[in-house]
Formats: sequence, structure tokens, C-alpha cells
Amino acid sequence: MLDRPLFNEEHHMFRDSVRKWAEDEVVPHHDTWQQAGMVSRDVWESAGKQGYLAMYAEEEYGGLGLDDFRFDQILIEELTWREAGLFIPLHNRVVGPYFRKFATPEQKARFFPGIVAGTNILAIAISEPGTGSDVAGIRSRAENKGDHWLLNGAKTFISNGILADTVIVAARTDPQNARSLGLFLVEAGMPGFTRGRKLAKLGLHSQDTAELFFDDVKIPKENVLGDPTQGFKAMMVGLAEERLTGAASYVARAERAFEVTLAYIKDRNAFGRPIGSFQNSRFKMAEMRTQLDAAQVFVDHCTAMHLEGKLTADLAAQAKLLTSETEGRVVDECLQLHGGAGYMREYEISRHYADARISRIYAGTSEIMKEIIGRSLGLDERGMR
Ligand SMILES: Cc1cc2nc3c(=O)[nH]c(=O)nc-3n(C[C@H](O)[C@H](O)[C@H](O)COP(=O)(O)OP(=O)(O)OC[C@H]3O[C@@H](n4cnc5c(N)ncnc54)[C@H](O)[C@@H]3O)c2cc1C
Repeated sequence: MLDRPLFNEEHHMFRDSVRKWAEDEVVPHHDTWQQAGMVSRDVWESAGKQGYLAMYAEEEYGGLGLDDFRFDQILIEELTWREAGLFIPLHNRVVGPYFRKFATPEQKARFFPGIVAGTNILAIAISEPGTGSDVAGIRSRAENKGDHWLLNGAKTFISNGILADTVIVAARTDPQNARSLGLFLVEAGMPGFTRGRKLAKLGLHSQDTAELFFDDVKIPKENVLGDPTQGFKAMMVGLAEERLTGAASYVARAERAFEVTLAYIKDRNAFGRPIGSFQNSRFKMAEMRTQLDAAQVFVDHCTAMHLEGKLTADLAAQAKLLTSETEGRVVDECLQLHGGAGYMREYEISRHYADARISRIYAGTSEIMKEIIGRSLGLDERGMR
């Protein structure tokens, strides 16, 4: 096992408690949640009681005032492979930070207690039927009506879309300027806000990914997050942490795929000997062990940089690219080493294979990550001229 100096005794104790909680409160519900296409609200509240949600929220808002990404990294590592659709990392480290950075004290006082308790589940809605990678292509629009904003549009592929109590919705606030975006806090029950289908997916079966519709939704001024023309910039601020969050989960799932495969190939025999004793199996496992360790070291380095406030968007893009591509290769090789059993749903590896496919697509595709990294090298179209 790789030595990971990033974590101290306190983190190890935290990991033990998360593991125990996950085994007691998460794992037993796996089949039910996979069939239901979503996790229960109870598990969110249970996580809240444990203090696992938005730990960074100040104590006056019900939080722990503990801003240490390593605790979230541990949650990610212990939860991702046990229940891939329980999107606590999205709540904690993708959506929650918008409240932390851009909410007024009044908004923090209103939203954080529920966010911390697990009674206010969060989602963020940027993608639309007509646009995903290209944020400037957003068509949802919000009109300033003086004492409120009027929101119209449709969003798709929204994680936590069915369970969410509050959705941060990105919408255009100036028809002439695609970069003038506002972030609007849309709450369950607001007239004109409806949820569409819970989307059937290749993997992540317990994740309630959904379509959302906004038809003349009246958004009170108190539900505008930050400057309604600067949402684009606000989204860019959080990208490094979002990509690090993803990267930590991709390595964790790949690591689990490796573990179950190692056990399987020691046990399964062919031609009178364990599958694992064939040179091909040994070499595959050796390659994967090396790639996984390298990816983990890189992620831990990014976490260390993040703790010092030095994680750049480019470095985080590298972490996302490296880990999601490594994960894709690892789950594929691991499934191959399982033979036909690997294709059967009763074998855990089949689930990881399906769940992993999205990692190279959401939170910015691998191609977009390469664009970002390439540009940081001065290789954009302007730079090349
Ligand atoms: C399960 C799931 C959960 C999701 N959760 C959320 C969520 O919670 N909130 C949310 O807002 N969105 C969410 N998404 C949307 C996700 O972020 C987008 O699917 C993703 O950003 C890609 O956008 P797209 O699907 O529109 O693909 P497109 O942008 O249409 O891309 C299609 C292909 O073209 C490539 N491409 C696009 N532009 C370029 C370029 N400039 N150079 C080279 N290649 C390019 C892409 O890499 C990709 O291969 C989720 C998606 C899924 C499937």
C-alpha cells in the first residue's frame, strides 16, 4: 500500500468512522437504491447527523467551521465505490462552495443549516439540451422585473435533480451578451419549477439525474447568488475544486476495481492454475498498480496544493484528465481479467465499469481538459499565430 503522508492520525480516525457509517447506513440499501434510481433522503440526514456535510460552514450556520479538503477526500474515497450515486461530494465540494463564496450573510443563515443537516440537498444546473461543454451557449434566461427576476428555460443531465431542495440555475441575464450569466437559487415548490424524467443511464443507477424546467419562475431578489452578470466568473472560480473532487473519486473507484480483481484472479483457475499466475495477468496488474499509484500521488499533491490555496485550474484539469483516463483503462482491464463473470451484474466489477464511463465526460470532457491544459502552454489559436 502506498504511503500517503497527506493524512494524519485525525484523518485516519475519521476514515474509520466513515467506513463504519457507510457499511451500516449505505451498503445495506444498495440494491433498493439501484432499483429506485435514487438514494433515500434518510441517508442524507444521517450523513448530516454525522457532521459529514459542508463541514466548512461556519459554526453560526450549524457547520463545523472545518475547512480541510482531506476530510472530503476521505468521504469520497470511502463512498464512491460503495454507492456511486450518493452524490455527497457534489453537495459538499461542487455546489456548497458557491454558498460559501458568494452568498450574503442572510442567504448563508437561510440555507446553510439545511445544507449541513442534509435536509436541503443541493444541485447545480448549467447544462441544457442544446449545450454542455460550451457554457456560452446557455439559452435559459432571467429577466429583471424590478422586485424579482423571471426565469425561463430547460436544463438536462442534472445530478440530484429529483431529490434537490435547492438548485443553483445558471441563466443569461443580458440577451446581447452570452457571458452575462446569473446564478439563481430555485427552491422546490416554487411555482413554474417542474422536474422532468429521472433519466435512465448506462451506470450510476442510484443517482437521480434529471431534466428540470423553468416556466416563468418568479425568483425573489433574495435568491440571486452574487452579481447577476458575473455568474460565468463565479463558475470558473470553483472549477479547480470541482475537478479535484472528481479526480479523487475516479482513483478511488479504480483502486477498488483493482482490489476486487486481484482477489478474483488469485481464486479463479484455468488450465490447472490461478488466472493470476499467467504472465499476462501479472503484467496487467503490475501496470495498473503503477498507474494507480502515480495517479494517487498526483491527486494527493493537488490536494496539498489546494490546502495552501495554490491549486490552479490547469493543474486540476491535468488531475481530472489523468485520473479519469486511468480509471477508464483500469476498469476495462479489470473486467477483462474477470472473463464472462465480469459482464454479469452480480460481480461488482461490472458496476464499476459502467459507473466509470461518465468520468471522462462530466465536469468537463477529456477533450476540454486537453484544451485547458494546451492553452496554459500558450498553444491556443492566438498563441500559435
Ligand atoms: C450522469 C451525468 C451527470 C451530470 N451532471 C450534471 C450536473 O449536475 N449539472 C450540469 O450542469 N451538468 C451535468 N452533466 C452534464 C455534463 O457536464 C455534460 O454532459 C458535459 O459537460 C459534456 O457536455 P455535452 O454532453 O453537451 O457534450 P458536448 O459539449 O455536446 O460534447 C460532445 C463531444 O464533443 C466534444 N467537444 C465539445 N467541444 C469541444 C472542443 N472545443 N474541442 C474538442 N472537442 C469538443 C466533447 O469533448 C464530446 O466528446 C451531467 C452529465 C451526465 C451524463
